[in-house]
Amino acid sequence: MRRPLVAGNWKMHGSRQSVDALLNGLVEQEWPEGVELMIAPPALYIDRCVGRLQGSPLSVGGQTCATQAEPGALTGEISPAQLRDAGCGYVLVGHSERRTLFGESDAVVCKKFAAALACGLRPVLCVGESQAERDAGQTADVVARQLQVILDAFGVGGLAEGVVAYEPVWAIGTGLTASPEQAQDVHAMIRARLAMLDDAQAQDVRIVYGGSVKADNAEALFSMPDIDGGLIGGASLNAEEFGAIARAA
Ligand code: PGA
Repeated sequence: MRRPLVAGNWKMHGSRQSVDALLNGLVEQEWPEGVELMIAPPALYIDRCVGRLQGSPLSVGGQTCATQAEPGALTGEISPAQLRDAGCGYVLVGHSERRTLFGESDAVVCKKFAAALACGLRPVLCVGESQAERDAGQTADVVARQLQVILDAFGVGGLAEGVVAYEPVWAIGTGLTASPEQAQDVHAMIRARLAMLDDAQAQDVRIVYGGSVKADNAEALFSMPDIDGGLIGGASLNAEEFGAIARAA
């Protein structure tokens, strides 16, 4: 049985004041048993979050990391070793905003995945097609390409150390959620692809869905057989809504 993961990606939102208010709201939520919970705040607030969430079932993750674990002359970067040192258990890699706005290639994403694993962080590998790619019937090819670099380097076993997040770019922050069937189709396609390489390990890989997940659509998405939880953006900035989404998993 795959343990669902519900993760919140706060992106570049928050101030010390609003983060404290959100944390206060989060510690008051009733969290479901059997669901793994994680939030990825802006790096500046990781320390604050780790401190406040001690003793709660929520863990903390990074939103991205450097391509190397070792310290170095990389102004502005944060290494996965530093995230681990700060108390993180996870790090997002290859979020579509990183790929499109910061030019992260599959090769860079793969280096980040490797560096995270080397530090004992679980990477959450984000994959997904744009609207144009979906319209052109390229969804399967795009997602397969994004997965392949990781599979070439680490195999299905390596991927299973982390989590796959299927996040169709057209659904991120747009209010346009993939229908449960659309999402399930891609999740099943991903799992089938992994199963061709290693069926047993493919069944263990958690594949979460992201893209305009809200309290009112979470249950239908999470009830799909290959959807193992969610990566939540906007709705994770509201403690009550994030709690409701977690309870739907
Ligand atoms: P959204 O973002 O829930 O605001 O669409 C999801 C994500 O980018 O991870």
